[in-house]
Formats: sequence, C-alpha cells, structure tokens
Amino acid sequence: MAAFSGCNHKMRKVNFDNISDAWDREHLWHPYTSAIDPLPTYKVVSADGVRLKLADGTELIDGMSSWWCVIHGYNNPAINEAALKQLSQMSHVMFGGLTHEPAIELGKLLLEMAPPSMHNVFYADSGSVAVEVAMKIAVQYAIAKSGRHDKTDFVTIRSGYHGDTWNAMSVCDPVTGMHGAFGPALPIRFFAPAPTTSYDAPWDPADIEPLKRIIEDHHETLAALILEPIVQGAGGMRIYSPQYLVEARKLCDQYGLLLIFDEIATGFWRTGKLFAWEHAGVEPDIMCIGKGLTAGYLTMSAVLTTHDVAVTLSRGEAGVLMHGPTFMGNPLACAIAIASLKLLQSQDMKARLEHLHAKISQLIAPAATFDNVKEVRSIGSIGVIEMKEPVDVGSFQRKCVERGIWVRPFGKLVYIMPPYIISDEDLTTLVTNMLQIINPEYGCDKKQTC
Ligand code: PMP
Repeated sequence: MAAFSGCNHKMRKVNFDNISDAWDREHLWHPYTSAIDPLPTYKVVSADGVRLKLADGTELIDGMSSWWCVIHGYNNPAINEAALKQLSQMSHVMFGGLTHEPAIELGKLLLEMAPPSMHNVFYADSGSVAVEVAMKIAVQYAIAKSGRHDKTDFVTIRSGYHGDTWNAMSVCDPVTGMHGAFGPALPIRFFAPAPTTSYDAPWDPADIEPLKRIIEDHHETLAALILEPIVQGAGGMRIYSPQYLVEARKLCDQYGLLLIFDEIATGFWRTGKLFAWEHAGVEPDIMCIGKGLTAGYLTMSAVLTTHDVAVTLSRGEAGVLMHGPTFMGNPLACAIAIASLKLLQSQDMKARLEHLHAKISQLIAPAATFDNVKEVRSIGSIGVIEMKEPVDVGSFQRKCVERGIWVRPFGKLVYIMPPYIISDEDLTTLVTNMLQIINPEYGCDKKQTC
C-alpha cells in the first residue's frame, strides 16, 4: 500500500480505536511513559523493508529505524537466514569457560572495521551496559596503572546521552538527562559545556578551553573523558567539529586520562563514515558500539579497547575485568551481527550514505524558512529540525500515523534516521509529510481544498 503524500486532503482515515490496546495501556510501561496517563501506542503486527504495518492495516514509512538500529530495514532475508541457521545449532551457551565460532568470527570482523588501535572485544547486553563496562574498565585501568584508588571520576560534555543505567545516566547531560529525577542518588561528574563549533565551521580554539581547565584542575582524580564523537544524539542531536576530538585526545594524552568514544548511535555508517572517529582521525582508548551492531534484531553491544588498556587492567590488583553478564556473547546475536556486518561490507556504503545525505539535506532544507523552526541540520543519514518550542509528541505522532509515516520527536527536535535501504520516493514522502505536519501550508497548493 502506498503511503500518503501531499496536502491534508490526501490523509487516510485511521481507525485509532483498533490500534490502541486497552490492556497494554493499563499494564505495560512504555519508555519514559506515565502509568496513569500514557501517550497512545500503535500496535504493530509486522514490519518489512522500511514499512511498519499496524493492526488496522495502516502502513507507516519508518523514519526512526526503531531508535536508530534497524539499519538494513525490517525482515531482511540474509539476516533472517543467518538467525534461523544459528537457531538450529544453538541459540545460547554461557561464555564463561566456553567459546564458539560466531563470537570469534564477529570479533574478527569488528576488529577489521574498528580503529586500528582496538585489540580486545567485550560483548555486552545493551548500549547502556556497554557504557557501564567501559567506565568500569577505565576505573580498573586507572587503579592498575597508577596504584591510586581515587582516580575514579569522569569528565564529559553537556548535551550528551549515554544510556539509562546508573553510571551511564551520571554522564548524561545533567539538565536534559535524568539527573533531575534521581538527584543526589547519582554520582556527580565533571561537565564541560557542549562544543559550539559546528561540523563545517572554522575551529574556534576557545571551544576546548572549559574542558582543558577541568582536566588541568582535576586530572589526578579523573579516570577518563567520555563523549559521543561528532554527533550528540539523544541529548540534543548536535553535530560538532572534528577538531574538538583532536584537542580532546591531546588533553587526555597530556594528563593521563583514557578517552572513551560512545559510538553506540554514531556507529555503522550513521554519520556517513563507518564509525564517527574517522571524521577526525582520532582513535579512542575504549569504544562502545551497539544499536546497528545487530541491525535491530536482538539486543547486543560491544566494548572495544586497546591492547594497553586490556593488558594493564589485567596486571592490576583484581587481575580480571569484573564483569560477566549471563547473555555475554550470545551466539544468536553474534550470528545476526555477522550477517549484518557482511551486508555492510558487501555494499558501497560510502556512496549510499553520500546519496542519502544529499537527499535528506535537500528535503529538510525548506524547513529552515518556517516561522516555528530554529535550525535545520544534517549529517550522514541523520536529518534534524530544531523547533523553537517543544513538540507535543502525542499529537505529532497521531498526525504522522494519519499520513502514513513514523517519526518520534523529543523536546524541540523533530528528526529522521531512516533505514539505509529507504528509496528516494519513500524518503520524499516521509520528509514532505513531516514538513507538512510542522507547517500545514508547506507544499500546499492553495487552489486545492486542503
Ligand atoms: N549511548 C548512546 C550514544 C545512545 O544513543 C544510547 C541509546 N540511545 C545508549 C548509549 C544506550 O543504549 P541502550 O538504549 O541500548 O541501552
């Protein structure tokens, strides 16, 4: 079924009663949602390519890649096949004392694709857990290296987002993150202002000064600097200068801090490069990856480290990395990740992303002239429209469903991160409808009865 394009008069009548589920509303918690007054949820019965099919038959073009992870689209035949094959052999075995070919093959593939200095791989359960593991590694490394037990703190930049677990939350932006809700329960970290030099702008050396001052003053107790390279995702969809990473790397080297790149959102081509470190040519000591790793099929993440980090930690008092989750190295997830990475390797992803970026930036550009829009920005396959006022998510999403698209704004940000397989036609329909929701007069021929 074709999705809808053009003015409001082309909108389809959606049976919203058939879509929402009363039991779900009463009993299931959805992300960041009230138990007494939840936002509407739309029941999906299947998904294929870039389309989500709702219970009443409505099809939506997906602009979210299910929170940025379904990079190859839904129901991909090659990944399905790999999953079924692995399922018939073993879906899970413990990773303590056992190993298996999917974990080994995935590790080899990841190290081929990662920054050259990465040497050791730790498989974890989710993005947030990867961040926890990275922070634990940094602390154990600092103790092992310096023999000091107080070199355990972290510095980060504002507008960041690193996940929902305890330590991950502690390095999220203290205002837009969840610090307000948890108050003194969260460890207090050092926050430098978010970088202000945008991606293409001439570098302003003043941009790094606040971070420099924090590191100069507190390096004795700082284990690491953690940040999302180039694109800050859920903390504000900000795109910043590669030079910031160059300067940050210099400071970490000078003052003996590890540099952790959280590439959970930026990894696997989302910013137009395989990983975002490539924009700056700056390699981290520890790197977290997740989301696109399993193409949205299963939850899995990985923490990569340099040889120095792994070896130094292992020579420390504890002698081992103190982490080992039940589902570590899950063979089914590994097999799926291998299939996804092979799909990436078999295509000219650079050209694909260049095309997507050109198309997305061209399609969202008109929004820059809308009265209610503050700024429009894009990189890779990410297109962001920053509004002047916060968006009413419930009402926005209802309009999306009426128009046959799926976009979920947050705060003042309306954005898309579609699966890489999206066609030009679907992308045009997706963005045109999104722009018409933001500005009902956009693209509307006034002679028609809209
Ligand atoms: N780090 C970044 C940069 C993220 O964008 C996210 C998820 N949006 C996470 C960490 C947490 O990942 P997960 O939701 O898989 O725990």
